[in-house]
Amino acid sequence: MPETSSTAPTIVWYRQDLRIGDHPALSDASARGPVVPVYILWDEEEGGWAPGSASRWWLHHSLKSLSADLADKGSPLVIRRGPALKTLLDLARQTGASGVVWNRRYEPAAIARDTAVKAALRREGLTAESHNGSLLFEPWEIKTGSGGPFKVFTPFWRACRAATEPPAPLKAPRTLTPPRQRPSSLRIEDLGLLPRIGWDKEFYEHWKPGEAGAARELSTFLKNVVDGYAVQRDVPAVRGTSRLSPHLHWGDIGPRQVWHAVLAASVNGGRAGAMGKGAETYLKELCWREFAYHVLYHQPRTVDVSLREEFEHVAWSKDRSALKRWQSGRTGYPIVDAGLRELWVTGWMHNRVRMIVGSFLTKDLLIPWRKGAEWFWDTLVDADLASNTFGWQWVAGCGADAAPYFRIFNPVLQSERFDPQGEYLRRWLPELARLGTPWIHRPWEAPPEVLRAAGVRLGEEYPLPMVDHAEARERTLEAFKVLKSAGR
Ligand SMILES: Cc1cc2nc3c(=O)[nH]c(=O)nc-3n(C[C@H](O)[C@H](O)[C@H](O)COP(=O)(O)OP(=O)(O)OC[C@H]3O[C@@H](n4cnc5c(N)ncnc54)[C@H](O)[C@@H]3O)c2cc1C
Repeated sequence: MPETSSTAPTIVWYRQDLRIGDHPALSDASARGPVVPVYILWDEEEGGWAPGSASRWWLHHSLKSLSADLADKGSPLVIRRGPALKTLLDLARQTGASGVVWNRRYEPAAIARDTAVKAALRREGLTAESHNGSLLFEPWEIKTGSGGPFKVFTPFWRACRAATEPPAPLKAPRTLTPPRQRPSSLRIEDLGLLPRIGWDKEFYEHWKPGEAGAARELSTFLKNVVDGYAVQRDVPAVRGTSRLSPHLHWGDIGPRQVWHAVLAASVNGGRAGAMGKGAETYLKELCWREFAYHVLYHQPRTVDVSLREEFEHVAWSKDRSALKRWQSGRTGYPIVDAGLRELWVTGWMHNRVRMIVGSFLTKDLLIPWRKGAEWFWDTLVDADLASNTFGWQWVAGCGADAAPYFRIFNPVLQSERFDPQGEYLRRWLPELARLGTPWIHRPWEAPPEVLRAAGVRLGEEYPLPMVDHAEARERTLEAFKVLKSAGR
């Protein structure tokens, strides 16, 4: 039975919002009285998209950080494993809680589960409330003139800019009151989130999961990167972006915190209220994330099928060995291989290179986007169902995009344009490190004496191209003719 309402604790159900600051559910619960924060791991309720290996690494460390912060505030994090509803009801019984609060998720399986959980909790006499802790705007708030969802980004972005400014972030509660009965908890280690084989060893050099790590990353970005962001964001060799994506996915930081910090830095930066180009471009990128959630919410089937369903009729390749070569960064196209190796080593890949490797998989190898999305899902620390699905469908040409489906990136031209000196290529492909430009972008065209001098043995340490881009392009355009006949 719940305790009397003044002393009965409220359960805060943590999910992809692993922080204390700007946490509407935590603020709501702590204003009511004692708080029981809980994280529940239950892969079976994720609709086939349970966190992949790299995400689990992040989750482990982010939970560690959250757990320490909550203990400092006065109410330690409870860790459980099991179906959400049963676990929440058990916990309510054990602590005498009168209700549960959480910040919303928008993946189709999460929406279905949360709706059912909310109704069941209320039937049991508990309160159940949800809040927006993960988006600038709810997916249903931004509407076209006729009240429907947007299908392309630019008008969506304009509507976001015209909408009321996202609310200022909430302050973290100063202290938290624990429940009188301390509930039992697993240890974070008991969740078994860390990999058994140590392929994650370099992650530690690149990332600091958790709220403090996110704040540090944001502060570095605002100090050193944001002013040049509009240009540098497309250059994979430099630190030209915020690298906040895994923090945003797991909610180590909320988008409102980022949005307002960028605005404040822009105004305080001596520009008398005028937004710098870097800051404006950055806010626009944050709204790409919003748009991905908007599309996911209004088109939930896109996690499995192409938004433009005629793409399902293309004669996609089932060549598993080609997929394997792509996954292991051995396609023979340096920019593609560098990206896939960056992904393997760091759990992250630069956005420009994500587009190039995605185009190569779907257009040069004619492998369905879903295979690429699955690989990214397992290997990215920022794997996010909305952004990953959106990104892959955009690259494949079958998603919410105004560009024509027959846009096919030329991996060599992309490499020469965005990594002109080959710095990014040399960082990730040591076997080509002594090869100069322009040959490093297309080593198979280099004269034998140049290859010899650089110590490069093509077809041995580094492979020859697995396909000829021009031929692959023609083959794909041929395969895509079926789209024309479907009326595109
Ligand atoms: C094939 C493909 C798959 C992708 N999969 C994911 C994914 O699983 N998770 C993910 O967070 N992003 C994904 N993206 C989008 C984008 O590549 C990353 O958000 C970005 O590279 C993260 O680096 P950053 O934080 O330094 O970005 P910044 O350039 O600093 O951008 C700031 C933030 O804006 C958001 N953002 C920027 N670009 C995009 C975009 N195109 N779509 C959605 N959000 C965006 C991210 O939250 C990002 O952290 C994917 C893109 C492609 C082409």
